[in-house]
Amino acid sequence: RRADVAMYAAKEAGSGYEVYDSEMDRHNPARLALISQVRPALDGTEFILHYQPKLYLGDSRVAGVEALIRWEHPDRGLVQPYEFIPLVERTVLLRPLTLYVLNEALRQWHVWDRMGIAVPMAVNLSPRSLLDTQLPDQVNEMLGRWNMPPVALTLELTESFLMSDSGRSTDVLAHLSEIGVQVSIDDFGTGYSSLSYLKRLQVDEIKVDRSFVTNMRADPNDLMIVKATVELGRNLGLRVVAEGVEDAKTWQDLADIGCDVAQGFFLSRPLPPMEMTDWLAVREPNRGRDDPVPAEPVAGALARSPLRAL
Ligand code: C2E
Ligand code: CA
Ligand code: CA
Repeated sequence: RRADVAMYAAKEAGSGYEVYDSEMDRHNPARLALISQVRPALDGTEFILHYQPKLYLGDSRVAGVEALIRWEHPDRGLVQPYEFIPLVERTVLLRPLTLYVLNEALRQWHVWDRMGIAVPMAVNLSPRSLLDTQLPDQVNEMLGRWNMPPVALTLELTESFLMSDSGRSTDVLAHLSEIGVQVSIDDFGTGYSSLSYLKRLQVDEIKVDRSFVTNMRADPNDLMIVKATVELGRNLGLRVVAEGVEDAKTWQDLADIGCDVAQGFFLSRPLPPMEMTDWLAVREPNRGRDDPVPAEPVAGALARSPLRAL
């Protein structure tokens, strides 16, 4: 049984192998206790989304934000997604959690849109969500509810959904593409699947895994992988996002390589909604006339920005 637990962990990490550790064991009593608290937490306000911006490397314009879930647990404090998403994924709670995240992200998009801040939204989907044939209709209904054009929503998926599947998940994905939402392949370069799916599945964006980006200045192999991915994206007409950009030099190198979009701690850590609103209000030029940016805070905030040096 423990070998099986380790095998699941290896598949999830895309690492090829993992050594069993009681921490990864879903039958671990602490984990079972945590999972039993998901359902009640979904009815309350414990799950919150933080948002991390993505910027165009060419001109530093805001390309969008990615919604990242956090659990404000009453006893444990802030619980990170890696501690509960893999548990939830194996239970019937995955659907309510996925719908919760989608609805919350779209609601936030709507709030920003009403403020005159037009910012595309990206949401992470668990590969197992693609086995849910009701998902496309539910996404479509939510887009209507929040008056959001489908093109403003990007769904981020790791390649692992291609490995699990019998064809159902590619059908669900095709349905989502038909609705008009954008499809992004997350953690690109860490999976084992063939590249032909990039065309076949109408992918719009690839996100180079942060392990390559964070390390590309130190390791020529990582740099080569980033360059090759940017080239691949260009040839296939896909947007390429580099995640895990942690310093100015990496930002500049990515711009020189011709990468489209960057995301990472150098630009901003994931922020709670109010802080993200302030961050966007300073940079997002697409504002409503009734809601002008006050002159002084803008100057102040820009002076503190890591992008000032660019
Ligand atoms: P991801 O989709 O690859 O998300 C990016 C992760 O990288 C985030 O971790 C983010 O905080 C972190 N990150 C961003 N910039 C940097 C950087 O410059 N350096 C470093 N070292 N890290 C950076 P986070 O928020 O802990 O999320 C971890 C993973 O959990 C996500 O990886 C995603 O796979 C999953 N996840 C998060 N939210 C959701 C969700 O709502 N639904 C599902 N299904 N999965 C989610
Ligand atoms: Ca992601
Ligand atoms: Ca990623």
